[in-house]
Parts: sequence; structure tokens; C-alpha cells
Amino acid sequence: MILKKRSEPPEIFQLESLIQRFPLVHPLFPHWTEKLRRISAGFHGEQRVDNLWSEILFNLPHYLIHDLYIQKATSSHQIDTVLVTNRFVLLLEIKSISGQLHFDPQLRQFSRTNKDGSIDGMRNPDDQVRRHEGFVRNFLKEKKIPLPVVGIIVFTYPSSIVSSRPGNRIVIQSSGLPYLLDQLAAKYPDDLLNTRQTRRLADQLLQLHMDPPLRELNVPADLRKGVLCGKDCGGEMEYYWRKWTCKKCSRVDRSAHFQTLLQYRSLINQTITNKEFRHFTGIESTTTASKLLKMANMPYTGSYKDRIYQIPEEIIQIESISADLESI
Ligand SMILES: [Zn+2]
Repeated sequence: MILKKRSEPPEIFQLESLIQRFPLVHPLFPHWTEKLRRISAGFHGEQRVDNLWSEILFNLPHYLIHDLYIQKATSSHQIDTVLVTNRFVLLLEIKSISGQLHFDPQLRQFSRTNKDGSIDGMRNPDDQVRRHEGFVRNFLKEKKIPLPVVGIIVFTYPSSIVSSRPGNRIVIQSSGLPYLLDQLAAKYPDDLLNTRQTRRLADQLLQLHMDPPLRELNVPADLRKGVLCGKDCGGEMEYYWRKWTCKKCSRVDRSAHFQTLLQYRSLINQTITNKEFRHFTGIESTTTASKLLKMANMPYTGSYKDRIYQIPEEIIQIESISADLESI
């Protein structure tokens, strides 16, 4: 049973917004596109592994928590997947890295050798798993729950070749996950918890989760402002006759500023005032700006004149819903 699904990392939208608002020739452009490529590949790899669970026939009581984020006073844990069973707890560190991969257990280094012979050093996933294992073991100890904790590294690309293993750590290709579960069920034959206790433990771990803070980007000051058309066009949109129209492709969208508000949230600030909204979108009239902001139905503080709107993660288009209802 899945207790928590995985959602798209907010960095993807953040980087896409950034890329849309800077010219190709910007010196940081290659850095952003590479970062976006890496994060997207990681997310898609994790999703591929998530899909495998639906095909796995696993008879023990078990609960899945995808992307568990735990913030502590000075550090945090982001565990790709936690599987809680009545016999053991399994932690997955999922890696989507191609090429020839090498763990050096003495130096604690992890590297990739590319086709051209060049070598990239990377964060050692074994150290990440070890940290997560330590945290979950302590948590179980505090709760006096005697379950073993097993951390594994899962590579998602069939093309990635692991040439050396990090000590005794279990390292698998994602396709080997069903077989590994059978092996673990055989290795830990005792039912240490009943179904209710297993569920309670999974719920307790899930209660530790919080949404990771949105990473702050150093957004250069020459960011392109305005309400922009979709990804493929990128043209600037103008507001008249109660709708946004793209100057480049003539696309019409009544609520195009919703996307702009979300971009503003991920690049600049999670709150916005009428003045800031006008400055960013190029709308001149305070009244029009106020109507557009109202349409987004955002929570706010302050009186009419100096209202501060809290931009939510998602903006629900109330108007279109009611329009749909009218047409039924
Ligand atoms: Zn357009």
C-alpha cells in the first residue's frame, strides 16, 4: 500500500521558469540546463522504480513512502523510498547515472568513467544510505521496535555498469528489485510485527515528513519580466478586453497570469503585493491588477491598499470551473 506518492521536484518548475526568462546566450544558461537535465533524469528514474512496485507480488504486510523528507535542527534526510514491512524496513537510494561507476571503499569516493575516458567525481550514494540507515535505526530504537533496517542503492539505467561495490552494501539494477525482496523475505523469516503495528510504524515515519523548503536561487537582476506565453512560444502576452493575448502567436488565455504568479513564487518571492505584481507583469492600472489578483483567489493579509498575497503552490482556476458548470 502506498502511503505517500512521489511528486515532481519543485526545482524542475523553478529551473524551467528561469530558463524561459533568460536568453540562450546568458553565461549561466548551460549551468541551468544541465542542472535541469540532471534533476529531471533523477525524477524520471525514481518514477520508473515506483512503477515496478505495482508489478511486485509481495505477500508480507507492507507500506511504501516515496520521497520522505525529514528536517532536523542542523541536517536533513531525503530518502527516495521507504518500504516498511513486518519483518524489515528497506531504504532505497535511487540513482540514474549512466556510464561505468566505481566505488572506492577506502577513499569513500564514487566516480564515473565516461566513454571518452574522462572521470566525474560524485557524491557517494553509500554514505547517503549509511546516514539514512543510522537515522531510521535510531528512530526504531527509541520506539523499541526490533526491525532490521536495510539500505540499498538502486541504479535505474541498464547501461550503467558498476565495476566495484561499496563493501557489503546491496547494489542492484532496478529490474532486480522483485528478486531482492524475495531474498530479504527469506533472510528475515520472522514476523516481528502484526499488520496493525506495521501500519502504525509506517504512519509514524510519515508523520516526520515535511515538504522540503524551496531552494533559493540566485536569480540575476536582468530577469525578463512580463506574462509569457507557453514554453514553446515564449512570446510576451498583453492584457486587454479581459484576456491575455500573445503578441507573437495570438494565443488567448484568460488566466495566463496564474503561471506568472507561480513563476514569481519560485524565482522571486512567495508573497506579492499589487505594486510588485504591476511591476512584474507590466499592468499599469491598480484596479485591473487587483481584479487579476483576486481571480487567483490567494490568501492574503493586510487591508485593501497594502494587501500582501501569499502565492500558493497551485492556483485553482475558480472561474473556469464555474464556467464549465454553467455549460453543463
Ligand atoms: Zn505565443
